[in-house]
Amino acid sequence: MTPKIALEEHFMAPGFEDYFAKTAINISPNLFGKALEALADFGERRLAAMDAAGVKTAVLSLSGPGVQAEPRSEVATRKAREVNDFLAEKIAASAGRYGGFAHLAVQDPAAAADELERCIRDLGMQGAMINGSTNGSYLDDDRYSVLWERAADLGAPIYIHPNNPADVPYMYAGHPELYGPVWSWTVETGNHALRLLFGGVFDRYPNARLILGHMGETLPYQLWRFDSRWEISNRGDMRLEMKPSEYFKRNIWVTSAGVCSDEPLRCAIDAMGADRVMFSMDWPFERPEEAAGWIDKAPLSAAERQAVCHDNAAALLGL
Ligand code: MN
Repeated sequence: MTPKIALEEHFMAPGFEDYFAKTAINISPNLFGKALEALADFGERRLAAMDAAGVKTAVLSLSGPGVQAEPRSEVATRKAREVNDFLAEKIAASAGRYGGFAHLAVQDPAAAADELERCIRDLGMQGAMINGSTNGSYLDDDRYSVLWERAADLGAPIYIHPNNPADVPYMYAGHPELYGPVWSWTVETGNHALRLLFGGVFDRYPNARLILGHMGETLPYQLWRFDSRWEISNRGDMRLEMKPSEYFKRNIWVTSAGVCSDEPLRCAIDAMGADRVMFSMDWPFERPEEAAGWIDKAPLSAAERQAVCHDNAAALLGL
């Protein structure tokens, strides 16, 4: 079994359950309570699942949307600090088994930038996870420049995790099964990443590092078409310094979280490079044995498997 680092592995902290409950709309009710139990465990259950999958280090993140759903900005900022301190204690007590992504109250972008710096410099975390839009605004908005600038200076990757958008688009009317992990989260999160790319965030911050889960939210499949149709799009005076596909090879990494199948794995590697794809499990929402059993046998060269399971994450996150 190849030793692994996994980086979309979630937890729950006391006092954050009400925010998490906002995602109940997307998940079968009898599974929702089970997820909460697994999320709250930092001991034997989580470690046994990691051991069975060959995961030596799991980079933990609060299960969303967290304080991004908090209407009071100052409460969000305070609670983000609280949960980061909570996670830092778990990391410190784990003898290297846990890393962490900072939880950020992006309602106050300057405070979020300071909190990111505190988490990286003082608490030993590896980056931040942001759950979709906040109060209807996406991370390409100018107000978040302070956050991108700090993240780029710190070399800290930002992992954009799915969350529901500000409103339910009409295209899902009458189809609750499409609203959530089956489909709408893919559309929402892939679109968020494209807003950053076409919005010029990676031109303004060439060192910015973006991570997407779910094998890149289908985007690796579309790279040629992004380049081709960008040329003829009705884009006004919008300019990019590189072809859209080139940002996927400079600023973007993807994880296999929640996708255990060969075809999208090969597509992501072939489209973006073997140094851009990283194994993850999406604990507790996917089965660790299934994810690990799959990647250990997936159609990869020995060097690709080593890179995907371990070395790419070690390099990107400084582990
Ligand atoms: Mn997840």
